[in-house]
Amino acid sequence: MSVSLWMDQGRTLNSEAFDLVIVGGGIAGLSAAYWLAKSEPSFKIALIEKYRLGDGATGRNAGFITCGSVEHFNRLVENFGKEKALEIWQFSEENLRLLKKEIIEGQEGDLLFEHFGSFSLASTEKEFSELKESAALMDNMNIAVEVLERAAIQKRLGAEEFVGGIKYKNDASIHPLKLLLAIKKKIEKEFPKVEFFENHEVYEISTLGEDRIVKTRARWFTCPMVVMATNGYSPQIHQYFKNKIFPTRGQILAIGPVERFMEGPCYANFVLDYFRQLPTGELVIGGFRQLQKDVEVGYSDEITDVIQEALEDFLKKHIPKVKSAKITHRWSGIMGFSADGQPLVGALPTDNQVAFLGGFTAHGLGLAFHGGKVLAEGLMGEKIPEFLSAKRFN
Ligand SMILES: Cc1cc2nc3c(=O)[nH]c(=O)nc-3n(C[C@H](O)[C@H](O)[C@H](O)COP(=O)(O)OP(=O)(O)OC[C@H]3O[C@@H](n4cnc5c(N)ncnc54)[C@H](O)[C@@H]3O)c2cc1C
Repeated sequence: MSVSLWMDQGRTLNSEAFDLVIVGGGIAGLSAAYWLAKSEPSFKIALIEKYRLGDGATGRNAGFITCGSVEHFNRLVENFGKEKALEIWQFSEENLRLLKKEIIEGQEGDLLFEHFGSFSLASTEKEFSELKESAALMDNMNIAVEVLERAAIQKRLGAEEFVGGIKYKNDASIHPLKLLLAIKKKIEKEFPKVEFFENHEVYEISTLGEDRIVKTRARWFTCPMVVMATNGYSPQIHQYFKNKIFPTRGQILAIGPVERFMEGPCYANFVLDYFRQLPTGELVIGGFRQLQKDVEVGYSDEITDVIQEALEDFLKKHIPKVKSAKITHRWSGIMGFSADGQPLVGALPTDNQVAFLGGFTAHGLGLAFHGGKVLAEGLMGEKIPEFLSAKRFN
């Protein structure tokens, strides 16, 4: 959104003071609000969302809560070394432990939460050999993993035409929007000083003496500290993110329901494509942005024939059990990709009163709750782990 000089100066707007303002009502913004309120319950916190909570990627994703990152573990080791790869993995394991303990426990059924592990499936011998290499490395580091041959994949996942795969035994899945609203409910119950402002689009964060002003067309918010949790949309608000967080579109379709046959959520084709059956029987399947790399960028949440047809073809080839089921929904969402696949937590180099977390690279459910905790601890003076720290790009 752009705002004219006249709109910026011409109206008398309500201006309210807060101790902290968070911009972005997805899993990252809500997680940051939760941990910041938990560490400073007396803080008056405003959380501002452009549309409704969850209308960004958080309410549009596939609901996988998986460990690690966008690439197979052997490549993570290749890129970061063994020690850091393990640290990255353990960070997301801790994310799931925290989510369960703080939010999910006691409402697993309502949130469609399942902790049955996830799978990576290979269509080629080359990918299967990388998966086996990953499994060997993980086994050595005591990460729970299992190698599956073709027949086991057919039997346990109802998936055809895969040469082999591995199971990550500690992964989980959930209804992502219900999870987000469960975090909100917990915040409202325990931290009444957090206020939510939906349908408020931030168009500028400016400086007034020691304070920052977070401007929306309806209202201004003054505060000493801002947290941006706008992930893929961050470059629209501040140019710092232009070469650090890349808005990348992902498309999905939903089909069914059909009788339950799939043991857990699955990735295929080097983590680019994915599918999962919900406890209620529907299947969601997404991916194939590699077919239209130049189109699947930017901020529009449209769908395209090329990718939707590829998703349907994938289903016909690999998941014959849904061949007579009806497609009910097609949608897309905007993710924030970082250059090295790891999230960014930090503050603007030009203004340490504007902190941020983002760049979750298609894995926000597996990272952002713990990411919010790290951000809160960072604002209280603790060190941010090197692989997350945005300073690596400064
Ligand atoms: C199709 C698809 C499938 C995915 N599948 C998975 C999956 O299975 N597992 C997984 O872990 N991850 C998945 N992801 C990625 C995951 O959804 C994201 O990593 C995660 O939701 C990021 O959360 P966030 O809060 O950082 O961003 P978002 O959820 O995008 O939240 C950012 C919010 O900021 C708001 N905002 C933007 N600009 C402004 C402004 N100017 N003023 C106020 N508010 C603003 C937006 O409206 C939005 O609500 C998927 C993503 C997509 C699109």
